[in-house]
Amino acid sequence: MRLVIVGNGPGGVELAKDLSEEFEVTIVEKENLPHYSKPMLSHYIAGFLPEERLFPYSLDWYEKKGITLLLGAEAKLVDRLRRVLVTSAGEVPYDVLVIATGARAREPSIPGREHILTLRTLSDARLIKERLEKEGEITILGGGFIALELAGNLAKAGYTVRLVHRRKTLLGLDDELSGRIKEALEGAGVEFHLETNALGADGEGLKTDRGYIKGRLKVCAFGIVPNKELAVRSGIHAGRGILVDDHLRTSARDVYAIGDCAELGGVIGGTAKTAVEQAKVLARILAGKEANYVPFRSAFFKFADFGVAIIGRTKGQAQWLDEDTRVFYDGGKVSGAVVLGDMKKAFRLEKAIKEGLPID
Ligand SMILES: Cc1cc2nc3c(=O)[nH]c(=O)nc-3n(C[C@H](O)[C@H](O)[C@H](O)COP(=O)(O)OP(=O)(O)OC[C@H]3O[C@@H](n4cnc5c(N)ncnc54)[C@H](O)[C@@H]3O)c2cc1C
Repeated sequence: MRLVIVGNGPGGVELAKDLSEEFEVTIVEKENLPHYSKPMLSHYIAGFLPEERLFPYSLDWYEKKGITLLLGAEAKLVDRLRRVLVTSAGEVPYDVLVIATGARAREPSIPGREHILTLRTLSDARLIKERLEKEGEITILGGGFIALELAGNLAKAGYTVRLVHRRKTLLGLDDELSGRIKEALEGAGVEFHLETNALGADGEGLKTDRGYIKGRLKVCAFGIVPNKELAVRSGIHAGRGILVDDHLRTSARDVYAIGDCAELGGVIGGTAKTAVEQAKVLARILAGKEANYVPFRSAFFKFADFGVAIIGRTKGQAQWLDEDTRVFYDGGKVSGAVVLGDMKKAFRLEKAIKEGLPID
């Protein structure tokens, strides 16, 4: 059986790894690089690790696993009748096709957009690093985890870091939690401009509704756009992402989607953790085992040296369980939590919430 995977990100590579014995696996990837870690890009930009450490698997590793890696090959169309993937490097026949094309960074839509960089790929990171080393300072737009990771690491490395976010709170969390995270990052040296809307950019800085913020290097890190175009072009149903059910099936027979390109129940995963979890579930399904994917939001981050775990549903009625753990309730039951600092505790809590165990 031929399994063709489009995309060599964490979703694609995890699936290939798990099924390399059962299937003849081919990965089609438009970049010209083996798999690299996106979560480590801000560490690389900060100078905390050399570029080669971003690559967990060598080209030899793919070969030894029997995985055919077609690099520099862009998937253009799924020819569903002929069961062939049409790529820029030729046609690849499949029995099972998995779309794991991920997402791209959302572009700012303000005048002077050409003066703002985005961060998603290694080549984006190389460019930001080169500019940062010249300028010594950076303005980051966004209040999500990518913006905070980048801000934390660069401040820790000693750069001048400004973070501009249009909302009052970070990560979509409540005032108290957001305040604690802001405090930790301020301690690392990040300068915050919250409730500040960017109106335009030029070579020297950023125009906002609260005045002009000087700084030549500006990076936008506020959201993602799922890469659904391959599916749409091939007549596969899509909303914001490629629509899948809890077996990660798309609307086309023997075509599945996982990771940042997939939309399940109106939700796009948006993290490497989710992409890998979906790959593991799909590997079981394709190996003929009983499995389905139950969405459960859970993400663990480090902003400078401050650990933050966001688990389950983090809206609504809430209380502090202890000074670093805030739990959220739905109908009298704990439905989510945010843990600050102690990530071991966060893992225990994640398990308990997932399994519906009592929490004290
Ligand atoms: C700076 C940064 C920091 C992050 N930090 C974290 C973190 O701390 N924790 C966490 O869990 N997540 C983090 N993430 C998010 C995480 O990296 C993504 O959620 C994850 O990479 C998604 O995996 P994926 O396999 O779905 O897609 P991707 O990693 O986006 O991979 C998709 C691949 O498909 C390829 N592709 C796209 N279209 C085609 C085509 N038509 N033909 C061929 N190839 C194609 C792309 O080139 C890409 O290599 C971070 C992301 C960034 C950018």
